[in-house]
Amino acid sequence: MKILILIGTRPNFIKVTQFKKCAEKFPDMIISIVHTGQHYDEKMADVFFRQFKLTPDYYLNISPASPNKQIAEIMMKLEDLIVEIGKPDILLVPGDVNSSLAGALFANKAGIKLGHIEAGLRSFDRTMPEELNRIITDELSDLFFVTESSGAKHLKDEKRSEQAVHFVGNTMIDTMVAYNTEIDESLVLKNLQIESGKFVLMTMHRPATVDNQKELGKLIDLINYVTKKYKVIFPIHPRTIKNAKEFGLYDQISNNKNLICTEPLDYFAFQKLIKECAFILTDSGGIQEESTFRQKPCLTLRPNTERPITVDEGTNTLLTFDLAEVKAHIQMIENGDYKKGSIPEKWDGKATERILEILNRR
Ligand code: UDP
Repeated sequence: MKILILIGTRPNFIKVTQFKKCAEKFPDMIISIVHTGQHYDEKMADVFFRQFKLTPDYYLNISPASPNKQIAEIMMKLEDLIVEIGKPDILLVPGDVNSSLAGALFANKAGIKLGHIEAGLRSFDRTMPEELNRIITDELSDLFFVTESSGAKHLKDEKRSEQAVHFVGNTMIDTMVAYNTEIDESLVLKNLQIESGKFVLMTMHRPATVDNQKELGKLIDLINYVTKKYKVIFPIHPRTIKNAKEFGLYDQISNNKNLICTEPLDYFAFQKLIKECAFILTDSGGIQEESTFRQKPCLTLRPNTERPITVDEGTNTLLTFDLAEVKAHIQMIENGDYKKGSIPEKWDGKATERILEILNRR
């Protein structure tokens, strides 16, 4: 069986680290990884391939461009690649980024079976570009690999064939489990001169948070409040820096001595910070899941989530940018009154193995 996996961005890389290792158990399975190049630089891509000892078999090297141009370029280059290497039996796409969508459209037009890793997630917020990517990718998929019960429910509501939907768990958690030792060994606390439990980890990069001056201004008010008491580690996404500079807010970020801004961090360092921080402030998708797995309080500054299990069972809370509301939750964390959470079903480090077993059986 020939399996092609298509990845393009940081969260994609993190979701596929165990496929080649697990496939060693299945002698008839050949796995190849194609990297589109959507994320392409040292901090957002190369460092992850090095840490995971993962070398993509094929690199599409797409140009930085608008979503339309990138999606079109990925589809054209995939078509050329398939002429060269032959059709796979299945194309797997993880997540909800433009590379996932391009892979799904390509598979459909090329008559290749499509498997979606992280299928069925829905925020029901169509202003998020990722939501449409998820819906369309699922619409074109033949096999659905689901991370949490809500995913299975949505696919059932959408009348997908029951035989095609598989609740396998979360391949992002597989990576955390596989690299736990390396994460523990990271020297990031020493390098940043911070102490365990005494700092807050923050990431913000969604267009809704950082693309307009008012929202970014609210974020800065929040940072000013939290840094009165804690050091805040803020690995800044390139998009956030660009906007802060454009809106004339960058000085307020760079002048705060308790705000430690870094470039995007490598995987082991970032995971170590999740493990050792007091709590997390974020608008990321994946970090809601990683903090739930570590049972670490996570305040997600978004009106909705496509990963509701992290709120219902995990340590995640959705909040607005209302400072009073955020303060109240920080108070709960400090008083030990914040929910402790539990680890969702099948988030046990074996999701990749389950996916490959299902493919092998077919
Ligand atoms: N991450 C990382 N370094 C960073 C920030 C995030 O390794 O400086 C990891 C994080 O642990 C998670 C993934 O990147 O596994 C999430 O990426 P992002 O927030 O960009 O994407 P989203 O999950 O929101 O799609």
